[in-house]
Amino acid sequence: MEFISYGKQWIDDDDVEAVITTLKSDFLTQGPAVKDFEAAICEYTGAKYCVALSNATAGLHLAVSALGIKEGMEGITSPNTFVASANCLVYNNLRPVFADIEKDSYNIDPVEIRKKVTPETGVIIPVHFAGRPCNMNEIKRIADDNDLYLIEDAAHAIGSNYPDGSKVGNCKYSDMTVFSFHPVKTMTTGEGGAVTTNSKELYEKLVLLRSHGITKDADKLKENHGPWYYEMHDLGFNYRITDVQAALGISQLKKLDGFKKRRKDIITKYNSAFSNYDWIILPLVDDSDPCFHLYVVLIDYTAIKTTRSAVMQKLKDHNIGTQVLYIPVHTQPYYMDKFGYSWGDYPVAEDYYNKMLTIPLYPRMTDKEVDYVIDNIRKMVQ
Ligand SMILES: *Cc1c(COP(=O)(O)O)cnc(C)c1O
Repeated sequence: MEFISYGKQWIDDDDVEAVITTLKSDFLTQGPAVKDFEAAICEYTGAKYCVALSNATAGLHLAVSALGIKEGMEGITSPNTFVASANCLVYNNLRPVFADIEKDSYNIDPVEIRKKVTPETGVIIPVHFAGRPCNMNEIKRIADDNDLYLIEDAAHAIGSNYPDGSKVGNCKYSDMTVFSFHPVKTMTTGEGGAVTTNSKELYEKLVLLRSHGITKDADKLKENHGPWYYEMHDLGFNYRITDVQAALGISQLKKLDGFKKRRKDIITKYNSAFSNYDWIILPLVDDSDPCFHLYVVLIDYTAIKTTRSAVMQKLKDHNIGTQVLYIPVHTQPYYMDKFGYSWGDYPVAEDYYNKMLTIPLYPRMTDKEVDYVIDNIRKMVQ
């Protein structure tokens, strides 16, 4: 059996063709494909505006910047996430505050968010962990009650639906939603990301910040010296995505619903294969319709007389990749040193971290590979 990693992209001939067509065109960057990709994301999610950019980390950075929250204030996010969800606050000189997760969904817990809101809070950044939407009804209520901004980190969640059936990314609960198109995520542009919003003002701010804070828009210029003229209105960055990447994105987006269906089939197989064991906790079933990016289980390693490292090694010896996601962000040395966090601060996220394991999930997995993973995991307890 060839190595089965915990996640990977699926690039087919159409994708290759789309990239080649763009490579042979006049524009490798700043051409028509970026706009077309943004329009396609708007159509898919139902958002009014989309800004595609170099990666989701850049998207989170600019999303927080666009809100113009006063330096020194606070932002609340989940400890169970990739560091980028919290780093975007630090980039903007905001204090990162965490709210512990729910025991069953592993998403940020609205009850814990409420406890962390202070007069200094400016923004909440819920993370749709593994692709499962957070409890956005409740989180939006908290934001509305306290006059806070809301940015959804949907790096895992393109293709997911809220319990009301609408698509993550439509921003009906939030100011902005951020997607990632890194190859381990659900669809890819190599590196890439996007921010969706329904606010024209935020959209224009994001566009400005994506490209050095420079505008050429005649309606916005303070002076106008001629056709070459541009003005820098803000301190922006070069966070642009290329047309080559956007062409890949357009092609991948067409396959997203197919990817989702295949992911669901694999999950159904896993769920039924592991349902009779008391040492493994399977993903919660709730009212949402997630496009799962990860298949996450909690394992009672002591009950099966082993350790997680041993399990991972044993599976690796059989060419099966697993992963541990996430090391709670507040326990990263940078966050402990700079912001005074320590182990014990967020016990639910820490307990989750000690038990969790992701096993391979990607649409290109064959049934044979899925069965092989199931067999090998079952054998661990024999
Ligand atoms: C991957 C990821 C990011 C960052 O995405 P990039 O596109 O790699 O910058 C942010 N948040 C979460 C939750 C992620 O998993």
